[in-house]
Amino acid sequence: MAGLVAAARARELGARPVVLEKGHRPGGSMLLSSGVVWRHRSTAAFHDDCPAGDPLLQRTIVEQLDDAIQWLRSLGAPVVADETGNPRTVGVRFDPHGLTEALVRAAGDVRLNEPFADAQILATGGFAVRMARDRGLLLRASPWSEGDGIVFALARGADLSAGMDEFYGRNLPAAVPESLFVDAAQLYGRLALVLDHGGREFFPREPTWSEADLVQATARLPAAAAWYVVDARTMRERIRGRTVEELVELARTAGGDVRPVDELPFPLPPSPKLAEPPFVAVRVQAAVTHTIGGLRVDDRARVLREDGAPIAGLHAAGADAGGIFTGGYGSGLAAALVFGRIAAEDLLGGSSS
Ligand SMILES: Cc1cc2nc3c(=O)[nH]c(=O)nc-3n(C[C@H](O)[C@H](O)[C@H](O)COP(=O)(O)OP(=O)(O)OC[C@H]3O[C@@H](n4cnc5c(N)ncnc54)[C@H](O)[C@@H]3O)c2cc1C
Repeated sequence: MAGLVAAARARELGARPVVLEKGHRPGGSMLLSSGVVWRHRSTAAFHDDCPAGDPLLQRTIVEQLDDAIQWLRSLGAPVVADETGNPRTVGVRFDPHGLTEALVRAAGDVRLNEPFADAQILATGGFAVRMARDRGLLLRASPWSEGDGIVFALARGADLSAGMDEFYGRNLPAAVPESLFVDAAQLYGRLALVLDHGGREFFPREPTWSEADLVQATARLPAAAAWYVVDARTMRERIRGRTVEELVELARTAGGDVRPVDELPFPLPPSPKLAEPPFVAVRVQAAVTHTIGGLRVDDRARVLREDGAPIAGLHAAGADAGGIFTGGYGSGLAAALVFGRIAAEDLLGGSSS
């Protein structure tokens, strides 16, 4: 997303940008996403959720996102909902295909199947693919984000942000096709009895609302897998418009391991979460959506060296720019949008309005 945004904004400011896209289609993970571009209601709330993230970068998103969303609308990106459905957040839901089309149109010159050799704005989407491969996790992202932008900048003296081992992701029932990345996510960890492969409760506290912390804890288990055990009452609960029963059924049809609890290889510990039989167990695996650490940048999207000085002519945006969400979870689309625009404006010396 960030590369298309930067190019669209640069063209608006009179430049003739070229987007070099490694993949065979534009849009990266944005195209696969739910399209919800959102922010926390205040910088303080953002910082509470992502306590090790850079407060200046967080504030920039809170202050600039609403205008940036208006700008996206002005490009013709179709909004499917004027709110996020989450009282903690403010934003809109775009249709990801329409959003991608609008940005490609506005960016102008987008060349597919062309990995970059040189760049002024790095926007390669972080290193989800490499992290998933190195740690034996599932990938829930576009297949081209290997960290090429980060490698390029490191070779030019860039520093890294905090949180290089963190990621935002979801627990999935199996390796599912891209078309199921959104629907097959098992989002009811906070309602389930969550067990490791030996039947131990490895995450005894309440997960955060995003469950990103539970997913990262799952990733540290052998095979990066856990069991979610739910009772009949939980099966009737609704999460984002669907019942838990529907999510469990999706897990089954997506090829996941869904079984009655008497077929588990361990005895169930007693739990208040299991009150109304029958009890069902779903095996889930941690999947990486995007990395949280990346290049250290300032609020002008300039890539910084270890001493804090910017590297001349080098900007980064989207998941290539790290340290915004460290310790928590925020909108990757919002970061790509806000800092993609800022990168173009700073590079061209334009306004930030
Ligand atoms: C299933 C799913 C649901 C999501 N839902 C949401 C949501 O509702 N809200 C939200 O805020 N976020 C969501 N996200 C996360 C969001 O999509 C990402 O945070 C966002 O797309 C990151 O933007 P980006 O520009 O950094 O990366 P991307 O959008 O992935 O773009 C990076 C691009 O760089 C290309 N690239 C990689 N390497 C090279 C190279 N060497 N040369 C040239 N091109 C290269 C990639 O192919 C890709 O097209 C979701 C993601 C997924 C997968």
